[in-house]
Amino acid sequence: MNLAITINVVEELIISLLVIEAKLKGSQNQYKVLDEMILTGQFIRNSCLRYWMDNKDVKRNDLQKLCSLLGKDANFPWAKKLNSQARQASADRTWQSIQRFYKNCRLKLPGKKGYPKFKKFTRFLRNAAQTIEYKTTGYKLSPDRKKIEFKDGFKAGVFELWTSRDLVWYSEQQISRVRVVRRADGYYCQFLVNVDREETHNFQGNVVGIDLGLNAFYTDSNGDVVENPKYLRKSEKRLKKLQRKVSRRHEKGKKPQSNIRRQSDGSPNHKARIQLARAFLKISRQRKDHAVKTARALIQSHDLVVYEDLKIANLVKNHHLAKSISDASWYQFTEWLEYYAKLHGIACIAVPPHFTSQNCSNCGQTVKKSLSVRTHKCPHCGYIADRDHNAARNILAKGLEMLGAIVNSTEGHASFGGASLTEPGGNPKATGESDLSRAR
Ligand SMILES: [Zn+2]
Repeated sequence: MNLAITINVVEELIISLLVIEAKLKGSQNQYKVLDEMILTGQFIRNSCLRYWMDNKDVKRNDLQKLCSLLGKDANFPWAKKLNSQARQASADRTWQSIQRFYKNCRLKLPGKKGYPKFKKFTRFLRNAAQTIEYKTTGYKLSPDRKKIEFKDGFKAGVFELWTSRDLVWYSEQQISRVRVVRRADGYYCQFLVNVDREETHNFQGNVVGIDLGLNAFYTDSNGDVVENPKYLRKSEKRLKKLQRKVSRRHEKGKKPQSNIRRQSDGSPNHKARIQLARAFLKISRQRKDHAVKTARALIQSHDLVVYEDLKIANLVKNHHLAKSISDASWYQFTEWLEYYAKLHGIACIAVPPHFTSQNCSNCGQTVKKSLSVRTHKCPHCGYIADRDHNAARNILAKGLEMLGAIVNSTEGHASFGGASLTEPGGNPKATGESDLSRAR
């Protein structure tokens, strides 16, 4: 296992919130208490979800009421131990996932609508994290901000905070939420800090269309290529190797533990599965890091960016691991593009993906080609270009066309720079990591 991943700095912005992440260092017993806290949060969520499923016309307020009832119920003594704001936050997040589901249904999005799911505590986390969220009470930071104490009924105690970012720069009033996050390699604390952040954009008249691909990360309409970094290939290889190792250990139809290797004391040896979970975590962090840096660089140097809307392109459900990772990282990349575009106040447009690779970007005629044909050769006008370059040019043209239509329409459109900021990875489940579920 690579120790370099244990300290993870997240430079992630949610609305005007800066997320500072620190590793929580405590004793094994304290970690067990954190698990209990997370379990309780899940209990609240599952109870709220059950209530919503069993009753008609459930409102947000009903869930809040249920939440305070659970805190008083003698049958669930643990619910009371959790800080009341943290309980409310669990109910609120359940409400948000219900709302997201309704919205997807209303918009008639193709594919899965994201029916809210019950949470369960899994021993082997992949890139999904389990969290509990505090607002302003239930915890106390030490004056030097190097320690945190959780002060609710669970009494998890004092943890050291390991981070390379200094929390000292921010006042306690600026910290709007504190999340405890459980990942495959340990427990983290996220501080959501209110900051005013604006970027001044240097407009130079550069417009670009990009084609996200499997061979290169993307190819742009100028013919420039951004490759997938080598370290990702390396991590992917390791991931595949570990996956084979884990799947060898359990046969079809048998319980995963049934033929697992035993240690000398007879307890099951989960080493391979833990290694796999950590490899998964590492690769999603690397992917995210790459997505953020690449998106920021692209937005900084352009005044208009057009990409293909992958939400439509990737509806085909794919069980192939490497493929779904790259799907997720494309989607994540486009989320960061949108984010930085708004921060810089420039236009970023998603166009529907139809025919961008089949049409000639020079004359507009259709030139059919299979996926294996890497070069676009137009028999109509003689234009020759790399397949992805041709697609990127079509994407840019489509974006400009859409922009023209929007500017000239009376209704206008709100999805351009300057509009309210959306949240890349705003879903705490996905914080810092790729988010497959939302890509569907
Ligand atoms: Zn042509």
